[in-house]
Amino acid sequence: MEDILRTFWCDVCKVPIINNNICTCGKETKFLSNDLRPVFPEERKLMFYLTQDKNFLNGYVWASKGLFYYFNGEQKKYSLDIFNNISQTDLLIDLLQNQNLNEEYELFNKEISTFVKNNSLRLNELQYYSSNIVKESVKQYSSSLPIISFSGGKDSTVASHLVITSLSNPSILHIFGDQCVNN
Ligand SMILES: [Zn+2]
Repeated sequence: MEDILRTFWCDVCKVPIINNNICTCGKETKFLSNDLRPVFPEERKLMFYLTQDKNFLNGYVWASKGLFYYFNGEQKKYSLDIFNNISQTDLLIDLLQNQNLNEEYELFNKEISTFVKNNSLRLNELQYYSSNIVKESVKQYSSSLPIISFSGGKDSTVASHLVITSLSNPSILHIFGDQCVNN
C-alpha cells in the first residue's frame, strides 16, 4: 500500500487520476498535485465572487492546500488578499444560501462520477484495505464496545460509512463530537 498520494490529470477525461500516470482511457496523464480536493458549487460561486475569475464557473475545478486551484488541469495560486475586500457579508450570505445551484450540482456530480469511475481500482483498493483494518481492530478489542466519533464532516462521514459496511452493522453507536478544528 503506497502512503504517498500523487494526483495526475487526464486531458481526455478531464479528471484527476490517483497515483497513476496512465488513465483508464489509456492516455498518459500529467502530474497535478500531492494534495487534491473537490471544489463544491458553493465554493466555486464564492471564489468567483471574490476573484471575478470566470474559470470558477466553467467546471473541472479542483483545489489543494494554500489557495491553489486547478482549472482543467492548470494550476493557479491565489493570495489571501482576495478576502480583504469582503465588506458586504449580507450579500455574500445571500449569494451562498439563496441561490439555486441545481445546474451547477448537475455538472459537479458528473465530474465526481467520472472521478469515481476512472479511479475505481484505487478506491476499491482503499476500501478493502480500510475494511480490513476495521475488522482486525474490532477483533483485537473484542471485549470493548465499538463506537464512532462523528462530527458530520467529510472525514467522519467516510469513517462511519466504512465501519458500518465493514462490520455489516448499521446500528453501531455514534457519538457526536465536533472540535471545530479543520486543516
Ligand atoms: Zn482518461
